[in-house]
Amino acid sequence: MTVYLVGAGPGDPGLITVKGARLLAQAEVLVHDRLVSPELIALVPETCEVISAAKEPRRPTMTQDQINALLVERGMRGQFVVRLKGGDPCVFARGGEEAAALIGAGVAFEIVPGITSAIAAPAYAGIPVTLRHESLCMTVVTGHEDPVSGKTVDWESIAKTGGTIVVLMGAGRAASIAARLIGGGLDAATPAAWVHWGTYDHQDVWRGRLGQLGADTIPSPAVLVIGVVAGVDISWFRSLAEAG
Ligand code: SAH
Repeated sequence: MTVYLVGAGPGDPGLITVKGARLLAQAEVLVHDRLVSPELIALVPETCEVISAAKEPRRPTMTQDQINALLVERGMRGQFVVRLKGGDPCVFARGGEEAAALIGAGVAFEIVPGITSAIAAPAYAGIPVTLRHESLCMTVVTGHEDPVSGKTVDWESIAKTGGTIVVLMGAGRAASIAARLIGGGLDAATPAAWVHWGTYDHQDVWRGRLGQLGADTIPSPAVLVIGVVAGVDISWFRSLAEAG
């Protein structure tokens, strides 16, 4: 049997793929992340074993090694396993590591891509991530470097791309990220925005300038958007919160 690494999409349950929804309806075991909608978890058969692999900030319930081992063990048992991850399973989601563990153990797997919050949260906030003639590239970057790898983000270089900068996992570090981008030559008056719980009914959006980013606490999870596109407002999605 196969282990399916499935993207749940960013939040709105309608944004899972048709393939992902079909696989959920067949699952014998579901291993899901924290940032997935309960409505998607409800798609599995009643007999399906549902396991939360939620990694709460600062309070891990399962380590990545334990998750890898669980997927391998259930795959080897021959069970129909869906590993459901928020957004896309290969965008800052360790899908590559889980796939490598499965390959190492000789367990068959498939990747079912999902809609990433890096693109969908801005879209639901009325921000297109590229703009013809004005924003010719998009850099998706983590605001949370892994201390184990020792690799760090070169914010000063990213400041020079001239395109859109989308930061995931950056809510808590927005002020220092903004300072580094400004230090790298990006104008403090560059439009900036953040989208909290993007695509959910309780989505919340802030718009301002790079120089103001992080002056006030940014709630998590949030996608930060920096660049001329953050000044575009093609808002169409009225969250329940906004509608009162
Ligand atoms: N694989 C996911 C990203 C996982 S990293 C994807 O493709 O979307 C987790 C980070 O994603 C969060 O810290 C936040 O920056 C972002 N994120 C995920 N879902 C979000 C949502 N609905 N609204 C805002 N940010 C979200």
